[in-house]
Amino acid sequence: MIDQFGREINYARISVTDRCNLRCRYCMPECGVKKISHAEILSLEEILRVAEIFARLGIKKIRLTGGEPLLRKNLPSLVRKLKNLPDIEQVTLTTNGVLLKTFARELISAGLDGVNLSLDTLNAKIFSDLTRRNFFAQVLDGLKILLAEKSLDIKINCVPLRGVNDGEILKLAALAKNNTVKVRCIELMPIGCAWESGLKGIPTAEIFSTLENNFGELVPIDKKNSLQGPAQYFRPKNFVGQIGFIDALEHKFCGSCNRIRLTAEGFLKTCLSFDTGLDVKKFLRSGDKELFEKIRETIYHKPKEHFFDGTTKFQMYQIGG
Ligand code: SAM
Ligand code: SF4
Repeated sequence: MIDQFGREINYARISVTDRCNLRCRYCMPECGVKKISHAEILSLEEILRVAEIFARLGIKKIRLTGGEPLLRKNLPSLVRKLKNLPDIEQVTLTTNGVLLKTFARELISAGLDGVNLSLDTLNAKIFSDLTRRNFFAQVLDGLKILLAEKSLDIKINCVPLRGVNDGEILKLAALAKNNTVKVRCIELMPIGCAWESGLKGIPTAEIFSTLENNFGELVPIDKKNSLQGPAQYFRPKNFVGQIGFIDALEHKFCGSCNRIRLTAEGFLKTCLSFDTGLDVKKFLRSGDKELFEKIRETIYHKPKEHFFDGTTKFQMYQIGG
């Protein structure tokens, strides 16, 4: 559908849990998060019902995220059902990869179209310092499975952090040399733990020139379609894969933002930086017509552009990145 500022909204990110098996310093407090009961999070049937309404409103792509989405039971069955919804063209997943070895096969047979693997380092020590957990070997297993999988669109997402993983960006980017993956650098967003942790991102221009110094000219790649999102992609000569940059703060792309987010507790959030939206859960008992209308109205009023002042009460692990 088209919102009040003429943007086509066709992409929904659905968080299926806010629990996680890692504790990334920029995302989650060391002590974890207050456990919300199963009754408080949307059931898979409820997620499906909302997704069906999203699809009727013009959503074509759904990304399942978290917390860590692979901790949610019966995720492959949800993927299969979402894929069967008319008008949903793509169902994808964002994961930290710890449980990929266990679930990759099932998810692929359920019809999953793509995986974004969040990976900030290829060094075991930096991994455990940053995530506060020793699951590096499991994540590497997941990475290997993805690199060998030709049917999926694979992206490797890295958040460059000054003094933490500066030296890792080149190694991660080099994964795109012989693999048809997109390695993307994502700017640190000043939300929740990231705001409080004192962690600092690295400007895209600096990363760009480090990459060019090492791999030669980064040739820009044109976007193929409107579902592709805000990343700008480049390919160094001799690379089969691509390198992407998402820097929402440095380059505001709100004017072409096509996305909405649904939290595990059923809050429909239409902009990363504002807490306005709709408590969908409240209306789940309403008839389809009322629920549809409330969701339509909320999406229509999506804010014009983001403004980060540290006041949003939502953390990244609730809104799924
Ligand atoms: N647990 C899954 C994972 O890590 O891929 C999915 C949820 S996680 C919140 C989704 C993405 O958000 C990850 O790629 C993570 O690096 C990113 N993220 C978390 N906090 C962030 C922040 N403050 N700024 C930028 N990206 C952040
Ligand atoms: Fe968990 Fe993902 Fe947040 Fe890391 S970024 S703590 S893996 S939700």
